[in-house]
Amino acid sequence: MEDEAFAIPAFGIEALAAKDFEQVQVLRDADLGLLAFVVIHSTRLGPAFGGIRRWTYGDPSEGLADALRLAEHMTYKCAINGVAGGGGKVVMLDNPAMDRRGAYLRLGEFIQEMGGRFYTGPDVGTDSSDLLVMGEVTDYIALPDERGTGELSGPTALGVFAGVRAVAGELGFSSLEGVHVVVQGLGGVGWSLCGLLVEAGAEISVCDVLPDRVDAACAEWDVAVVAPQLAYAVTCDIYAPCALGGVIRHEIIDDLGAKAIAGSANNVLASAACGEELFRRGVLYAPDFVINSGGLVHGALFHIEGKSPTPARVEAIGEQLVEIFAQSSASGVPPEVVAEGIARERLSQASDSPFFPGRKE
Ligand code: NAD
Repeated sequence: MEDEAFAIPAFGIEALAAKDFEQVQVLRDADLGLLAFVVIHSTRLGPAFGGIRRWTYGDPSEGLADALRLAEHMTYKCAINGVAGGGGKVVMLDNPAMDRRGAYLRLGEFIQEMGGRFYTGPDVGTDSSDLLVMGEVTDYIALPDERGTGELSGPTALGVFAGVRAVAGELGFSSLEGVHVVVQGLGGVGWSLCGLLVEAGAEISVCDVLPDRVDAACAEWDVAVVAPQLAYAVTCDIYAPCALGGVIRHEIIDDLGAKAIAGSANNVLASAACGEELFRRGVLYAPDFVINSGGLVHGALFHIEGKSPTPARVEAIGEQLVEIFAQSSASGVPPEVVAEGIARERLSQASDSPFFPGRKE
């Protein structure tokens, strides 16, 4: 099966070196239809954590770029939460000819050979069944059952909920009672978030591109339904994107209906300039890599400490956001820039990686 789809991309090696990634490997098995990038951004603070994204990319170099960006974010997620871990990511290039079980087993063997420098888990395209397959050959995996971390979307939703509470506080609400939140996406995270919001007395509007998810939500709770493509324009207190990234684009900022944005999606801002524009307009933005880090915190602490952490460890995301917002107002710098600065500062305080004894970073 030697064809163009399995060609290894020529990617800017200089750009990689400038970013100081610890390890970038290509895992390739043409018989299984497997081409994956395994990236470790940093283990300065401890072993790397990061899920497996299986996705169809226009070009393999787009997959590699995605893996690099996501691995770097995982490092910041650990650092900002004071977790003794680092960032990694796997991107598997999906293709119809892939032997899915065989490919995940091969990846699992590879991660086992890494000997604990990297723990992996779910991401878009990788579900519980894939993780259980990998669990046959590696110990360094977030098992979704009672032997492991459990499903990580629950802790992620708990972290987002803590973040939404913190954001509501910044907007001047003393509780979530009556606060109008638009939840876009009723998957693992969005659904759990809705449950927590309803319990707290929030008024919620929902949407999903899958009508059965919307019907199920209407049957479960008293919710309003909005159109997925116009979720950002609904007049509300908080817009919680829990589906895709890139939802805040220049073209839509004028029509934004919310006072604040706080959801689970990765890469909510289409560009750094969009974040600056939100800040200029006084729209509060909870940085994605902070507010959606509950699953990472839960999973990483489970592996590091050998037991499930208390919910308080995830709920601390709310306090972290309050601190970020305070620094942002005091310095006149957007919250996502403040958050990345805090993460980088913590990282710079650790001078070498426990996995490379003696190596100065
Ligand atoms: P999921 O795949 O379970 O759910 C996503 C839902 O969004 C699906 O129901 C899908 O139909 C819906 N959707 C897709 N496009 C939509 C659109 N344009 N408008 C409205 N709905 C749409 O995913 P999830 O695990 O709930 O994660 C949600 C988001 O949070 C993703 O961006 C993910 O990368 C991010 N995230 C998840 C976790 C986690 O622990 N699961 C952790 C960090 C970040």
